[in-house]
Amino acid sequence: MTEGAIDMKLSGWGRYPALDCRLEHLRRCEDLPGLLQRSDTLIARGNGRSYGDAALNPNLTLSMLAMDRMQAFDAETGRLTCEAGVLLADILATFVPRGWFPPVVPGTRFVTVGGMIAADIHGKNHHRNGTFGAHVESLTLATADGEIRECSRTQHADLFRATLGGMGLTGVILSASFRLRPIETAFVIQETLAARDLDEAFALFEESRDWPYSAAWIDCLARGAKLGRSLLIRGEFMERNALPPRLASDSLRLPPAGKLTVPVDAPSVLLNRASIGLFNELYYRRGRAQAKARPVHFDSFFFPLDRIEAWNRLYGRKGFVQYQCVLPKAESPTGIAALLERVTAAGQGSFLAVLKLFGPAGDGLMSFPLEGYTLALDFPMRRGTRALLNELDEITHRHGGRVYLAKDACCAPERVHEGYPRHSAFDTVRAEAAGATSRFASALSRRLALTAPHIRETI
Ligand SMILES: Cc1cc2nc3c(=O)[nH]c(=O)nc-3n(C[C@H](O)[C@H](O)[C@H](O)COP(=O)(O)OP(=O)(O)OC[C@H]3O[C@@H](n4cnc5c(N)ncnc54)[C@H](O)[C@@H]3O)c2cc1C
Repeated sequence: MTEGAIDMKLSGWGRYPALDCRLEHLRRCEDLPGLLQRSDTLIARGNGRSYGDAALNPNLTLSMLAMDRMQAFDAETGRLTCEAGVLLADILATFVPRGWFPPVVPGTRFVTVGGMIAADIHGKNHHRNGTFGAHVESLTLATADGEIRECSRTQHADLFRATLGGMGLTGVILSASFRLRPIETAFVIQETLAARDLDEAFALFEESRDWPYSAAWIDCLARGAKLGRSLLIRGEFMERNALPPRLASDSLRLPPAGKLTVPVDAPSVLLNRASIGLFNELYYRRGRAQAKARPVHFDSFFFPLDRIEAWNRLYGRKGFVQYQCVLPKAESPTGIAALLERVTAAGQGSFLAVLKLFGPAGDGLMSFPLEGYTLALDFPMRRGTRALLNELDEITHRHGGRVYLAKDACCAPERVHEGYPRHSAFDTVRAEAAGATSRFASALSRRLALTAPHIRETI
């Protein structure tokens, strides 16, 4: 065992798969060359909020959480430079009261800057603002030879593009610079619109294109004429003079502390067709009846799930998988309908089903988004779940789409290779990046054959 290393079971947020890994914390950049020498392969890990096996390497999983310093902030431009282990939650706590907000945020605050870059995450504003990576001006990357390289769109540009969405496979991101955007208040004006079926949902998305933020919750047990019935939520940050008086006195406040928690693993039978069906019916009716427009705090608009700590335990001991795919726009109506029909026919209703609109793809070689619609579904890991996921993969493939690596735990290599046409350019950059292909590896890269064959045997 290396000094300071712990052997433990690790998993992603879905708790599937769970692998025996050697975990070590990186505390100083200077320790990296030694770590690289001591271990055959390694993968960086942020806060473990990817769902599947992306941040797992039994040889060495390198936690970046101790690299958590904010290094510089320019109050003229909003440019923040920080270490890769800084949590989005800390950026929000520091900068919202000063009137700044990250350009793109995912559905949880508990991710690191390194994790947001490596997965090139998207938010509810992809159709307007692209991915988080689109706002990264530069990053420092420790490569396999122990060198630290400053990468940007003009310096080591290929390595930069491969690192956005590169799932940690190009090196260890040590720090990054990106621009926050100014906000006048911490409140979002939120509108909720009900769609009776999938066609109405697509029409509402198109009609909401000028709204900065939008996403729809889908009742994925609704069948037949109701297939795809959903609630579309759209919003934008409010200006100070639009706030009602009760909120105006402290317009940049943080959310109140305290949250609910799931203390033990719930029996997975709790999530069945009847319980999900009941929840969906009530949720849809409540959404339809709600006031169309109301001010809400950014925290409940962007991060509703963060209010329940350890909600991943609701799916039981065996864990769960999130299936997220994107389909090109022209294929989305038939493809998303086919996916939902397959899920309802399998009776495997998903508790969480979210539809979002993506704008054009960005420059990350392995970034997930492409112009079209993305659907995310959660499934408890049970007998039959893998078979269902294979069928969903088939449908996604037939419609020219791909799955999101940050959520994936089960996809076959050929599906990922076909879905990510720039993966061979990615392989080339990695091969040229001082041996990244045989150094940075994860259970995901092994499963998807994104790792040199002789290394696959060692993970
Ligand atoms: C409730 C919830 C909601 C979510 N909503 C969204 C969403 O709306 N949009 C979206 O895009 N994603 C979403 N995600 C997924 C999440 O944003 C990504 O998986 C993100 O990468 C997690 O960050 P992390 O710091 O936990 O990274 P980890 O999960 O620890 O790692 C993720 C990947 O990043 C790599 N990595 C991490 N740090 C570094 C580093 N310093 N250097 C190199 N590589 C590194 C890892 O190797 C791994 O491949 C959601 C996840 C949850 C749990």
